[in-house]
Amino acid sequence: MADGIYEIIDDRFRALFNGSAALDLIHTGCRWSEGPVWFKDGNYLLWSDIPNNRMMRYIPDGGVSVYRADARYSNGNTRDRQGRLVTCEHGARRVTRTEIDGSITVIADSFEGKRLNSPNDVVVHSDGSIWFTDPTYGIQSDYEGHKATPEQETNNVYRVDPQTGAIEAMVRDFVQPNGLAFSPDETKLYVADSGSPRHIRVFDVVAGRTLANGRVFCTVDPGLPDGFRFDIDGNLWTSAGDGVHCFAPDGTLIGKILTPERVANLTFGGPKGNRLYIAATSSIYAVYLTTNGAALS
Ligand code: MG
Repeated sequence: MADGIYEIIDDRFRALFNGSAALDLIHTGCRWSEGPVWFKDGNYLLWSDIPNNRMMRYIPDGGVSVYRADARYSNGNTRDRQGRLVTCEHGARRVTRTEIDGSITVIADSFEGKRLNSPNDVVVHSDGSIWFTDPTYGIQSDYEGHKATPEQETNNVYRVDPQTGAIEAMVRDFVQPNGLAFSPDETKLYVADSGSPRHIRVFDVVAGRTLANGRVFCTVDPGLPDGFRFDIDGNLWTSAGDGVHCFAPDGTLIGKILTPERVANLTFGGPKGNRLYIAATSSIYAVYLTTNGAALS
């Protein structure tokens, strides 16, 4: 059943949106929007425009500007527990942290003596460990980075230790690992595979640092699962070919937000965390929901 831009598949979805809340076009003119991240303390959104090799900033009522030119083909972004920007860079094939003074610290650029492929998306655990995915999208052509032959034998999910900085491969059997997020209580880690099959897998997080009991959580169709986020009730909101798909904690697809363009990623933002910012191909859209993001990052 449709209600404006909302498609209701399960009655549980009705509590999550207000039918009169429209889909707002925030900005257009990008080539491939990705990696949206909300800065609550600064009241602005950052995101990557990968093929244009730049990062953008949107200030509500203040407009859109280039935040970082020559962004080394940045993709996924998040913030650490100190509020610092953490970024995946296709071009430099690394994960970096932007310090408060603007300087760049390299968090990871190699594993077992070989260069990473092209880090795609990143999340920070409350213990400070940094988890990221490393598919090959950024080295397949010169469009989203620099064309190169992979040095890694597998496309892995990695963890960077907060004390030692050591990088460890946590899962090695993905085709193209992509978006990732912890459940609100951090007992589970969800990781999208945008290769084939196109689904989101879930792992139990043991003692904060080991993964166990991996299984398929949901399949996304049409399109593929790229980036995703959780709301406070543990519903998973993921990118898809026709918009944003919302999955209940039990893995049921309960509803959709339909968008004019294919979605790559999203994040909750706004002062109350109830505004969903959607990175969709050439544009950024936003919609007010009646739920809130699990973490403002
Ligand atoms: Mg991605």
